[in-house]
Amino acid sequence: MTKVYYNGDVNEAALQGKKVAIIGYGSQGHAHALNLKESGVDVVVGVRQGGSFNKAVEDGHHVVSVAEAAELGDLVMVLLPDEQQAKVYEEEIKAGLEAGNSLVFAHGFNVHFSQIVPPADVDVFLVAPKGPGHLVRRTYEEGAGVPALFAIYQDVTGQAKDKALAYAKGVGSARAGVLETTFKEETETDLFGEQAVLCGGLTSLVKAGFETLVEAGYQPEVAYFECLHELKLIVDLMYEDGMAGMRYSISDTAQWGDFVSGPRVVDSSSKEAMKEVLKDIQTGKFAKEWILENQANRPQFNAINNNENEHQIEVVGKKLRAMMPFVKSKQKQKEAVSV
Ligand code: NAD
Ligand code: MG
Ligand code: MG
Ligand code: MG
Ligand code: MG
Ligand code: MG
Repeated sequence: MTKVYYNGDVNEAALQGKKVAIIGYGSQGHAHALNLKESGVDVVVGVRQGGSFNKAVEDGHHVVSVAEAAELGDLVMVLLPDEQQAKVYEEEIKAGLEAGNSLVFAHGFNVHFSQIVPPADVDVFLVAPKGPGHLVRRTYEEGAGVPALFAIYQDVTGQAKDKALAYAKGVGSARAGVLETTFKEETETDLFGEQAVLCGGLTSLVKAGFETLVEAGYQPEVAYFECLHELKLIVDLMYEDGMAGMRYSISDTAQWGDFVSGPRVVDSSSKEAMKEVLKDIQTGKFAKEWILENQANRPQFNAINNNENEHQIEVVGKKLRAMMPFVKSKQKQKEAVSV
């Protein structure tokens, strides 16, 4: 079993006297900045003028431009959207890095796929909480944390690991457990998880189920409840007690249906498709297409997004959710969940 690090394993001195620059104040940025600050770490936030600049000021941070924060920070944590990082790094971050500083990420994409080539004289590592930023913040406030991965890409000071763990403790993740990985493993598994299972696999499964019922003449409202709404209960049970715990709670009829029909729907051909998806991630094909798509101002991304938003399951779901205000808690309404 791989080693899991907790608060007690962390050498807090690694961040003492050091300034941490949080670049970007979105989902992860706001959570890291607030948690680190409340953990006693010296934080400066670097963000461009606009919406999140004001939010960072309202939250009581020392807020400056990206370039200034990179200059001030001993550790520079890049929490910009992955597809913006390379450009902002070249134009506003690189010049602020001094020998012995740390360049830090929450996802390995840009370093692993060579979009950012760090200078040779800085430490480079990642600390990636395995949950959306708003959960990183909420669990910290509750005295807990979201588990995280860390990985060392370059260790010039000999202290990269201590710094990574101290950072993980500061954001609250060492309360929940921190595992070591590599940039390659974190990047490839994160992309695979969101594509094949968490986001892509799930939305395709739900849509196919919904369409099958509606095309067979069943009411779209009923299909929505069966194929989307009830998912939450099932996922919560799996989160708490695994698949066995979920199966304990459902009826034996449902469990028998799970056993005999599940493998017919997600079968060996689906697994073959997953292997192809993984291969495209490993070879850099996916990364290249996504980078080029952004350079072309996202024609395909926007077209698909518009079509998806008009799908019948979205139209029907919007109406049904408006009649179920309890579905959205106050907290959740505030939270833009991303993966
Ligand atoms: P986000 O989109 O929520 O926030 C990005 C921030 O960067 C915003 O403050 C935005 O205003 C700012 N920004 C955008 N473009 C900019 C530019 N050109 N110049 C200056 N500022 C700019 O991003 P996020 O979801 O927090 O992701 C940040 C990093 O964290 C990514 O590497 C992502 O992969 C990683 N990550 C995210 C999650 C998640 O659940 N959201 C989980 C783990 C890791
Ligand atoms: Mg600096
Ligand atoms: Mg992820
Ligand atoms: Mg049912
Ligand atoms: Mg049962
Ligand atoms: Mg991701």
